[in-house]
Amino acid sequence: MSTKGNVPGWKDKILFTPGPLTTSRTVKQALLRDLGSRDFEFISVIRSIRERLVALAGAKPGEYEAIPMQGSGTFAIESVFSSCVPPDGKVLIIVNGAYGQRMIKMCKTLKIEFEALEYPEDSLPDAKEIESTLKHFVGLITHVAIVHCETTTGIINPIQTIGALAKAAGARYFVDAMSSFGAVPLNIAAAHIDYLVSSANKCIEGVPGFGFIIARKEALLETEGWARSLSLNLLDQWKGLEGNGQFRFTPPTHVLLAFHQALLELEAEGGVEGRAARYYKNYQTLVEGMRELGFKEYLKPELQGYIITSFLYPDHPKWSFDEFYKRLNARDLVIYPGKVSNADCFRIGNIGRILEADVKGLLCGIREVMREMDLAL
Ligand SMILES: *Cc1c(COP(=O)(O)O)cnc(C)c1O
Repeated sequence: MSTKGNVPGWKDKILFTPGPLTTSRTVKQALLRDLGSRDFEFISVIRSIRERLVALAGAKPGEYEAIPMQGSGTFAIESVFSSCVPPDGKVLIIVNGAYGQRMIKMCKTLKIEFEALEYPEDSLPDAKEIESTLKHFVGLITHVAIVHCETTTGIINPIQTIGALAKAAGARYFVDAMSSFGAVPLNIAAAHIDYLVSSANKCIEGVPGFGFIIARKEALLETEGWARSLSLNLLDQWKGLEGNGQFRFTPPTHVLLAFHQALLELEAEGGVEGRAARYYKNYQTLVEGMRELGFKEYLKPELQGYIITSFLYPDHPKWSFDEFYKRLNARDLVIYPGKVSNADCFRIGNIGRILEADVKGLLCGIREVMREMDLAL
């Protein structure tokens, strides 16, 4: 066990992970205040966060509402399923990775009826099949759910096309944009999204502690009496925030202060476009460098987003992911294990307060580790 973390002023490891991520010093410094949850200053921070999130989604105020929810991202997803599907509702879940699978598990747990269309993790969903499934279950499917960037592989799903199909079928549309929101340009209304979920510790570069839902107000208002959970009740959470500006139950005050700072830093970087440009550069530098070293990506480049990249384990007798991981970790470079079900992969995230120079540093570290492991690819 390294004890570096106990040395005051020591530099943290760089997290090339899908979250929690490397955050800026100023975001971490924003945590260093104790504010009461009913403090007028804290209430104005919540209001500012909610307004800024609606703007980030490209939405008009009044048409959409941003609702922070305590817990990790999964809690916010569960808040939508448990609060916004009517008792006799049925969800069409479109799956091409582990986070889509999690939606299935959630509906099973909540005893919500669903149909699942499952696709291989290296392919996009089939819009024609989605359309015919919606036709087949016309009047029965009340909701369509999909993940935007499937963090399992880094694939970006065509949420706008599928949103149009959901709308045409009269279904509400739910998008898990956890690992894309804030870094992949999006117009929530143009994509026909009724509920979008993301969390504090992904592309907005805050620290973990809450997720948030951006909901079409008209859809949210029809959910009265549907909630299957008290703490995750989305409509009640919104009513509380609208009523006295406060959370119903203890909010992660420090985390919200840090998130507000992270939003200001996102705006200073040029908003979603600015952040997208930095992440894209990180991705390009990473993939070019990795290919030069002999690694291959799991996805075809045309399907690959710039958020996170899955690399195949090299076919080499000296390869060991554990050894590779540990040696990089000893250099303060943290990569991520794979999650693909039918191929051995590891993942490298391009998101967080990471610059191109950090990616170059990672590539140097990988080159050194390969030499140590006698891994000529
Ligand atoms: C990170 C992530 C989640 C939620 O993860 P938590 O660990 O609950 O914060 C959900 N969906 C996607 C696509 C993600 O990337």
